[in-house]
Amino acid sequence: MGDVVPFKISRPAERHRGKTLCKRGFHRWEIINDGQFDVRQGKLVTASKCKRCGKHKTEAR
Ligand SMILES: [Zn+2]
Repeated sequence: MGDVVPFKISRPAERHRGKTLCKRGFHRWEIINDGQFDVRQGKLVTASKCKRCGKHKTEAR
């Protein structure tokens, strides 16, 4: 029972690749609020969040 193969192999390299993409500006945006009114900009914006790094952004529609 000494040579149990780990079922789930951790792959830090894959995680790192995701972060590298984020660093390059290739975020995995997910729209969290479409058509939200931004008081600062005075117009409707689309709020998005990156699934990988959790970064937020708002875009004017
Ligand atoms: Zn990201």
